Amino acid sequence: MAIDTLLGRLEGVRQTGPCTWRARCPAHDSKGLTLSVREIDGNRVLLHCFAGCDTNDVLAAIGLEMSDLMSARVGDYFKPERMPFPVSDVLRCVAFEGLVIVHSGITLMNGLPFSQEDRERLMLATQRIQAALTASGVGHG
Ligand SMILES: [Zn+2]
Repeated sequence: MAIDTLLGRLEGVRQTGPCTWRARCPAHDSKGLTLSVREIDGNRVLLHCFAGCDTNDVLAAIGLEMSDLMSARVGDYFKPERMPFPVSDVLRCVAFEGLVIVHSGITLMNGLPFSQEDRERLMLATQRIQAALTASGVGHG
C-alpha cells in the first residue's frame, strides 16, 4: 500500500488520527514533526510540510516520486488553487475563446455589422483567457 511505503521511509512517524500522521520532514533539517500526512478515501495521500517544503522535494528526499505512489494522488491540501482544473479543459477553453477572437477580427475586417453584444463577447473571450492563465497556475500579475 502506498501509504505504508511512504510512512516506512519517514522518521518520527506519529499517528495523530484514524488517517493522519505527523513525521519529521525529510526535505529540511528539523527535529520537529512538521510534516503532515493524511490519507483520504483510502487512495489519496496528502502531504504538507508546515515549514513550507514543496511536496516534490519531500518525496525526492525519501527516494520517491509522484509515480511511486501509484494508487495515491499526492497533493498539497493547503494549496488547492494550484491546479483546480485539468490542463486539457483549460486548453480547450483557450482554443475556443481564440476562435471567438478570430471570428470577431474577420467580422471587423470585412466591415460586417459588429453589435454591442459582439463587442461584449469579445471582451468576455479575453477575460476567459486571463482566467484560464490564472486557473492553470501561470498567473498574470
Ligand atoms: Zn520541510
